[in-house]
Amino acid sequence: MARSLYMRFPGGVSKTLTLSYDDGVKQDIRLMEILDKNGIKCTFNLNSGIYSPEGTTYNRMSRSQITAAYTNSGHEVAVHAYNHPYLEQLPTGAVAYEIVKDRETLEEQFGTIVRGMAYPYGTYSDEVVDTLRLCGIVYARTVISTEKFDMPTDWLRLPATCHHKNPRLMDLAKRFVDLKADRAPQMFYLWGHSYEFDNDNNWNVIEEFAEYIGGREDIWYATNIEIYEYQQAYRQLIFSVDYNTVKNPTAYTLWFAIEKTVYSIAPGETLKLS
Ligand SMILES: [Zn+2]
Repeated sequence: MARSLYMRFPGGVSKTLTLSYDDGVKQDIRLMEILDKNGIKCTFNLNSGIYSPEGTTYNRMSRSQITAAYTNSGHEVAVHAYNHPYLEQLPTGAVAYEIVKDRETLEEQFGTIVRGMAYPYGTYSDEVVDTLRLCGIVYARTVISTEKFDMPTDWLRLPATCHHKNPRLMDLAKRFVDLKADRAPQMFYLWGHSYEFDNDNNWNVIEEFAEYIGGREDIWYATNIEIYEYQQAYRQLIFSVDYNTVKNPTAYTLWFAIEKTVYSIAPGETLKLS
């Protein structure tokens, strides 16, 4: 008999929230304080070829400021291309250089593996997408807003729910919080630049959003790559045709719901459900 089967996030919850902020500017530090207070995770997209010189007071941080700001912060650092170019205007070799050079610099600077990205200016072409896939990038954020909460179907052309300037931001947040989400898992994806809060003198926008949507037990707060990697691991679950037997070949504890019942399965475990 057919029963519904849905992915669940860690803890068995069906909703996740993630943020994506660009350019590595000083205002990211204030943004991180607001997010940390409310248990919210963000991905910061950095151009490691155009850090400010040390000792200057530009908006963009210097290398040492960048290192201090994001190391062991619990947030993700991701590629935003080495020099913030319009990637679709460049020859393929230069696109590959912009991606790989930024990856290599960030990986060396933070001692991590960097596979995420946001497109500078939000622009791309099919050729750019092909190139960054070959450079080991697994997701790349556009500047398209859906005002929806669907899980991504094309991670290399990843849309957001909205930008923080969207006048319907708090309506969307309320709709998300009120969602029962008892079927497919749901994601709220917010993006922007933290210097905009200074330019527009509206830090209250992100403070109100974070206080309202943060600290909830039915939302998984995660970086972009954490959500991507979790979903990839979930897709490796091995089910019998009646999905009464489930095997987890991954290193993740994974969660799913059959009808209303939520199950978790440990790394390496085989579960018999009937
Ligand atoms: Zn940018």
